[in-house]
Amino acid sequence: MAHAAQDLSLYPFVESQTQRLPYAFVKKRGVLPLGEEGGRLLLALSDPYDLETLEEVRCLLRTPLVEVLASAEAIEAAIERCYHQKEDAASQLIASLSLETPQQQEEGEGYDLLDRSEGSPVIQILNAILKEAIGQGASDIHFEPQEEGGLTVRYRIDGVLKMRHAPPREYQAQLLTRIKVLAQLDIAEQRLPQDGRIKLQLGGREIDFRVSTVPTSHGERIVLRILDRSNLLLGLEKIGMEAALLEKFRRLISFSEGIILVTGPTGSGKTTTLYSALVEMQSEEVNIMTIEEPIEYKLRGIAQMGVNPKIDLTFAKGLRHILRQDPDVIMIGEIRDKETAGIAIQSALTGHLVLSTLHTNDAPSALTRLVDMGIEPYLLASTVIGVLAQRLVRKICPHCKTLSFRDETEGAPQSARFYGKGCSLCFETGYKGRLGIYELMPMSHEVQRALLASPDSMHLKEIAKQKGLVPLRIAGEDLAAQGTTTLAEVLRVTRGGDADAAV
Ligand SMILES: [Zn+2]
Repeated sequence: MAHAAQDLSLYPFVESQTQRLPYAFVKKRGVLPLGEEGGRLLLALSDPYDLETLEEVRCLLRTPLVEVLASAEAIEAAIERCYHQKEDAASQLIASLSLETPQQQEEGEGYDLLDRSEGSPVIQILNAILKEAIGQGASDIHFEPQEEGGLTVRYRIDGVLKMRHAPPREYQAQLLTRIKVLAQLDIAEQRLPQDGRIKLQLGGREIDFRVSTVPTSHGERIVLRILDRSNLLLGLEKIGMEAALLEKFRRLISFSEGIILVTGPTGSGKTTTLYSALVEMQSEEVNIMTIEEPIEYKLRGIAQMGVNPKIDLTFAKGLRHILRQDPDVIMIGEIRDKETAGIAIQSALTGHLVLSTLHTNDAPSALTRLVDMGIEPYLLASTVIGVLAQRLVRKICPHCKTLSFRDETEGAPQSARFYGKGCSLCFETGYKGRLGIYELMPMSHEVQRALLASPDSMHLKEIAKQKGLVPLRIAGEDLAAQGTTTLAEVLRVTRGGDADAAV
């Protein structure tokens, strides 16, 4: 059932309705919940034939839908209005708090953030902060005690930290205690770091927070990592691979044995790429198993094991056990030592496809790093089938995208460049959302031969370039030339140790 195309401004956007779907989801899929009508959810959408999205919304919200057709632009504008009109809600709450003695209130685990508008000021502040951070698509929330007392709250959005709140000093201790209670940590312990988890609901949607506390000279510092499964957009089509590279990468994951490595610094999207590959490989004919630290998202139909140093379950140890579980595809969260690398190679040699990550700046350096760990080049030459290096670049905010004309002094191929001049919807940063840039090095005979002669990453890169490798920086510059991101952003994420810098 569908309503005809409509003017979305006729709808009073109800907070509790819009927040039932996460920002990243509605943004990507171009849908927006508008309200309820006779027990059914009114859902704005521009493409009534996007059955996959409709099915996902139905599953996520467990409710029948009434489709409201509207233009993609109208929905996009409405999404920005809905999800950011409450931008200052947490700030206002914090500012309006009375300084009465708060009474503690007990709650069980897993309560719904939307159900709690009452409670002590501390509970209200924390709920407002969590809700706001999720609504703005933050990946982490930092609670940082300051030298002069007081607390600042920063969100990481699109990979960059943003200052958000400074709750009154009176609430600092209680706020931190509240988080520790929810995460089931020892509240009396303030000198040792602790790790925990919080499970909460937001409009019926389950959200996990990974909690880490660390004692600093100014007090305990707490970081919440938001693990919002519906925020994770898996699929090789969705992570920004351009068509030719995607085809080559798909060819690699169709192999039945060998090692595929994904490299980049922390937060460069490696796990999302690997998860997307696993989801694509999944079928009832293959057994896919992972060992991760920690398991970031639970994937349906894939056996995931978390390493646990407390009980001495390491990558190497867990891997040995996985091999006895008759796997076809194994994902190793990260190769950090020679022992893990050795088992990965052995697994590949005995007919398994192994996917893993390394922290190197570019694709050829992954081979150099493994040789440095003590792995023989001939073993790498005969097992590694490809290396993918990647970064995430922020996309120019579509609401304040501007064309600037510069002279040719920089020798740029184009004099016109897009940039975001900053608006309220991108918090004046000029950027909104992120996209991957990739550098793929399939293991050609030429690269194999070069590796056997010398594991020098600069030399390997030269050979790989002759075989069609496009360096990360160039991939980024192409994206900037298209107006998707900026050169400054590409330089920000590719600087440091790029082997191309010397070329
Ligand atoms: Zn903007």
